[in-house]
Amino acid sequence: MTRLLFQGVPGVPDISESLRITSNCFHPERAKRVERPVDAFPLTADHCSLTTAGAADKLHEECGVVAIHNHPHAAREAYLALYALQHRGQESAGIATADGARLANIKGMGLVSEIFTDDVLAKLPGSMAIGHTRYSTTGDSALLNAQPIRVDSTKGLIAIAHNGNLVNLGNLRERLERDGAYFQTTSDSEIIVQLIAHSSAGTLVDAIADSLSQVEGAFSIVMMTRDRIFAARDPRGFRPLSMGRMLNPDGRDTIIFASESCAFDLLRAEFIRDVLPGELVMVSEDGVTSRQYATGVPQSSCVFEHVYFARPDSRIFGRWVQESRDQMGRQLARESGVPADVVVPVPDSGVTAALGYAEQAGLPFRMGLIRNHYVGRTFIEPEQRVRDFGVRLKLNPVHNLLAGKRVILIDDSIIRGTTSRKIVRMVRGAGATEVHLRISCPPTISPCFYGVDTPSKRDLIAANKSIEEIRRFIEADSLAYLSLEGLLQSVQDEKQTGYCTACYTGNYPTQWVDVEEILPAAATI
Ligand code: SF4
Repeated sequence: MTRLLFQGVPGVPDISESLRITSNCFHPERAKRVERPVDAFPLTADHCSLTTAGAADKLHEECGVVAIHNHPHAAREAYLALYALQHRGQESAGIATADGARLANIKGMGLVSEIFTDDVLAKLPGSMAIGHTRYSTTGDSALLNAQPIRVDSTKGLIAIAHNGNLVNLGNLRERLERDGAYFQTTSDSEIIVQLIAHSSAGTLVDAIADSLSQVEGAFSIVMMTRDRIFAARDPRGFRPLSMGRMLNPDGRDTIIFASESCAFDLLRAEFIRDVLPGELVMVSEDGVTSRQYATGVPQSSCVFEHVYFARPDSRIFGRWVQESRDQMGRQLARESGVPADVVVPVPDSGVTAALGYAEQAGLPFRMGLIRNHYVGRTFIEPEQRVRDFGVRLKLNPVHNLLAGKRVILIDDSIIRGTTSRKIVRMVRGAGATEVHLRISCPPTISPCFYGVDTPSKRDLIAANKSIEEIRRFIEADSLAYLSLEGLLQSVQDEKQTGYCTACYTGNYPTQWVDVEEILPAAATI
């Protein structure tokens, strides 16, 4: 049964986890929350304990965000944009709207289409909206941590949603608690709102800038008050966030922000530009204004967005993802070509790189593995039986394309290695005479602290085994990864965007990381 939380929704009892931060700036004794989380509002099917079969051996993006300013059906537009961003998180989703006076918020567990039926969308009035879709690890996927979070603070009602992960959370939380803050969620968004509420800055926009300059890590944020929308990226620009617009007959544009530009296409909006690293953009009745709240920090945008997360029809960090993946495939063919009969992608994310590889190598490209797109939130975890079954549920070999062939298999990553082994066995079982696995990025040797759910170092196969040992484990005839230089060359353009490559190098662009997580495997066992 899908459980929803309602806050400030006209005609619906205010069953809410609304946070109220009172006038507590530097006065701990006065800091208190007057509302407590209550049980969620039960509606239809509960998907909280369901998960994607076979998903355990892939990395997951944490979130996607959207914001809409000046549209008569802002909630519906936010819904469509979230629909386009569903690949960035499938566990919970939320939309908050504002109509100049009220700020309503509805969120629930499940897919965007499961939560936001016509009836639910009708309860979200207003010409402004922000939205969020979230992936989170088991145990941390409570409805309370779903976003947007709606907060009643000394600076007024604020709704906030973010994509990414703060790394100086503990320190900030400790300091805020000493100042009287009382936390109700484990969400990074709440830290940011608490910082805004505790800021001594005179205006809301100054308080937001003040708050953002204190947090370290990865965040692309959208925020909304009763009459304004804010959008910001962290100073290093880890996560993407783009700005677009719809031209309206009355001359007042609808302004849109989204994690990926593919959301603009569904809305028939045009891409304007990326929100810059360290930039805070404000949209109000008076138009769009912007300020750099942080400067001089080297950019380190997540290169794995280009490798895997973002949709190939998106333009992120100033570059088409499709173009990057095509180049990765071509470079992989140049670096590690092998005599073969056919190039086969592991769908869907391996497809574009495989096309590039095949063209560069002069080999036929064949869809030798077919993905079942209807396998999704079907089975209850944790059940080992399901995990073992997962790959066969998701992928099926096309025997007549593989039988008697020397196959080059293209995938975007090997995390634990178990899924890759099952796929190699599947292709061989369909009659392939040789299976050569090629990976369109370098070996993943270190966990991510910037919004991507990665296993600890001890569970990353490439952190603990040589490439030859991995080849033997996955039972491939040969195995090769794209070099780091090859990857960076594939995503580069004239703007010379700086990229984070920490999961391939262990060199983290921020100071704060969890040392436990990056200890060598032997030391942690
Ligand atoms: S560590 Fe890897 S996944 Fe995380 S931000 Fe850096 S490149 Fe992206």
